[in-house]
Amino acid sequence: MKTFTLGGIHPPDEKRTAGSAIAPLPLPGQVAIPLSQHIGMPATPLVAKGDRVKAGQLIGGAAGFISANVHSSVSGVVLDVKAVVDASGYARPAVVIRVEGDEWDESVKQRESPDHYLSAFSREEMLASIQAAGVVGMGGATFPARVKLSPPAGSRPEILIVNGAECEPFLTADHRLMIERSRELLIGTRFLMKALGVEQAIIGIENNKPDAIAIMREAVTKHTLGIEVCPLKVKYPQGGEKQLIQATTGRRVPPGALPIAAGVVVHNVGTVYAAYEAITIHKPLVERVVTVTGKSLERPGNYLCRVGAPVSHLIEAAGGLPGDTGKVVSGGPMMGKALASTDVVVTKGTSGVLVIPAAEALRNPSRDCIRCAKCVRVCPMGLEPYLLMTLGEHRQTGEMERGRVMDCIECGSCSFTCPAQRPLLDVIRLGKSRVGQAIKSRK
Ligand code: SF4
Ligand code: SF4
Repeated sequence: MKTFTLGGIHPPDEKRTAGSAIAPLPLPGQVAIPLSQHIGMPATPLVAKGDRVKAGQLIGGAAGFISANVHSSVSGVVLDVKAVVDASGYARPAVVIRVEGDEWDESVKQRESPDHYLSAFSREEMLASIQAAGVVGMGGATFPARVKLSPPAGSRPEILIVNGAECEPFLTADHRLMIERSRELLIGTRFLMKALGVEQAIIGIENNKPDAIAIMREAVTKHTLGIEVCPLKVKYPQGGEKQLIQATTGRRVPPGALPIAAGVVVHNVGTVYAAYEAITIHKPLVERVVTVTGKSLERPGNYLCRVGAPVSHLIEAAGGLPGDTGKVVSGGPMMGKALASTDVVVTKGTSGVLVIPAAEALRNPSRDCIRCAKCVRVCPMGLEPYLLMTLGEHRQTGEMERGRVMDCIECGSCSFTCPAQRPLLDVIRLGKSRVGQAIKSRK
């Protein structure tokens, strides 16, 4: 079974919602749609208090090459454009809308069959549709998809990898998408192949999703050439870009370089589906599948949720916040971020909401490092987490940079493994942001 070679761990997978079909969530009474749901410049607001908007209407314009359009996910009245606290804990500008009905912008409709666009649309038209729809990486990175599909001059993309690994414990949104929208994903993959100008695509899926592998394989043999489904060993972080590239192609991305250096571009299955909808029905990225899960939740499931809905709305649909709740996390247990409040809203990058019971949310006290080197053995990027943590504690920014902290993919494998319960990832993450700022100011 294919996999990456360096490091990796095997956390319990806890995929308790794998059998839960995607269920549309009722509309919330109010949404707050952040203008910064992507890497890059925040979008510029195009609406003001009192404006009436429809679902799918552009409300924030991309403010530069690395930026993304933002659309209303609902119809209603703009109550305000103001700073709202997001999952990062920072207040950022958002458009607050009172929901009235569910009227969609006239542009969002199917005019031709999906196959028509494959032959009739040029590469540029596909890219323009993806850009107009505000599609970003939905696996968590939220990098504007249009930018990733436009490799820099001099580089030559050869392979598109579709990331269906979904290696984070608990999360099953991508799994359900592959089971329930396999045909659309295959067509979306062909769209992205054309947009990139490549003849080969590989869909990487961890082997704990045999139903998704079987359904995607059936769709491939029926509809496509040049696309291969690649089952992968269950090992975390199999869905990390560089790990996935090595597992599926055997190619290695040089340290500090982007995947295109190995001739590869990676897109998550959610992104492929959003690109499919952008091209075929002109639908902007205004809703996504979110796994809402946790051991004590009454109705955990995979919910199709409008962007801007509060996390509390999702939790209500899943049966309400259990009495034993200790922590609510946006994302999975390995890479997710604890939320300060359930008023935080769902964005394009929200893959899951995990409710952790109090008994499991408490961390054991951290002890001194016993120099066992387990963190080094499991690090998939070949780093020395114990050393990076010590340097981080002493604010040795230059040393951290030399220790390749910017290569850290924040997978959390080191913290998960450490027998001394040292908060390696927390300290490394802080140090990484300091090094990032230092690099930025040098430029
Ligand atoms: S969080 Fe960073 S340092 Fe820790 S194992 Fe993952 S890549 Fe390595
Ligand atoms: S795993 Fe923990 S105890 Fe072992 S070397 Fe790393 S930091 Fe130290």
